Amino acid sequence: MIGFFPEVYPDELLYSVFARYQVYCGYTGHHGLYPDIFIKNEKQIPFRLTAPINNDVKEAIGNFEDVIHRHTLIDYYIRFISRRKRERALKSILSDDAIDTPLSFIVNSDFDYNALYCPLCAKADRDIYGETYWHRSHQYRGIDVCHIHGCYLMNYKLTAQQSVSAEAVIPTDDIVCYSPNEPEFALAGYVAELMNKPLINKNISVSEYLKRKAEYSQYYSVFTKRVDFEKMSNGLAKFYKGMQSKYFAPQQLLKVFVIGATDFAQVCAIALFLGVSVDELNNMLLPTDNGINYNKLHKIV
Ligand SMILES: [Zn+2]
Repeated sequence: MIGFFPEVYPDELLYSVFARYQVYCGYTGHHGLYPDIFIKNEKQIPFRLTAPINNDVKEAIGNFEDVIHRHTLIDYYIRFISRRKRERALKSILSDDAIDTPLSFIVNSDFDYNALYCPLCAKADRDIYGETYWHRSHQYRGIDVCHIHGCYLMNYKLTAQQSVSAEAVIPTDDIVCYSPNEPEFALAGYVAELMNKPLINKNISVSEYLKRKAEYSQYYSVFTKRVDFEKMSNGLAKFYKGMQSKYFAPQQLLKVFVIGATDFAQVCAIALFLGVSVDELNNMLLPTDNGINYNKLHKIV
């Protein structure tokens, strides 16, 4: 039974709360932390998700399902996958068992040990709370800048089998370097805003949705009735000029529009480029959903 549990800060990863708990308790290693928090003797705590936690902690932490959505990256991994897989992933992370094998792609995504942080957010945290913490919104793969300050995120290499509090390792004298690229900053804001929207459990393919959106852009050819990946790739590279991204090559676009790849940052980058608002992408209403006959609308070639 635990005597107390720290308040969860805004935008804080669950991992970060556990790491702070370990510091507050004066535990020097996992041996004290694990029996207090987890159901099983975990080998390591997933940085962006969570391992199954015991009922004491669930009670202390509030609405567990809500916490999972707001303080882990589960929505980042599952928002655009099929409803069947999404429901299974949610059921799995909410259960007392480890995430099941078919969803191992999520778990594998979680173990790269790069903990990102923004030096200016760390300073603001220390001013407000007297300590800093690991922010969820800095951990979105493919996003390199802070969505609040527009500076490049810094990297701290975590060690496996060790929980590390941000306050213990984030320096106070990092050199702040701003991104000169406005769309890169806009994309960071777009991703952060979408992640804060409630997950809508619809069975719509984001690939199909983006295709329909692209049909009304200059990147669709009415002659071939296909998205022109070469043209869109050039358009994306020009729009996100200076931003290093492997997402914009024609073969990467083909993966999204044809094969159905669902990388969160890549989907957002394409949606922002096509002028799709965060709310539109969140709702993903296909043309027939609102009664508009899109076949009669003029298409720009
Ligand atoms: Zn920041």
